[in-house]
Amino acid sequence: MPPEICPNCGAEISPNAKACRECGSSEETGWGEKAHADNLGLPDEDFDYDDFVKREFGEKKPVPRGLGWFWWLVALILLVVFAALLLH
Ligand SMILES: [Zn+2]
Repeated sequence: MPPEICPNCGAEISPNAKACRECGSSEETGWGEKAHADNLGLPDEDFDYDDFVKREFGEKKPVPRGLGWFWWLVALILLVVFAALLLH
């Protein structure tokens, strides 16, 4: 018995279906997302590394470690300087 809704892509699956008509998941593949690539025979070199990095780290480039606290320190110093000037 297949699930009513495909766990991989969310498509409705008829009780008689042996596999998802949308993504190709089936009991054989454990209704997982891997079935998609397997059934379509997509080559691994199709993997877009740049796109993967963008999705993993967002559009902007990752900030080097250690830069964060530095700018917090600069901001703090500026704040103290401004406070000192105002209270003078
Ligand atoms: Zn599916």
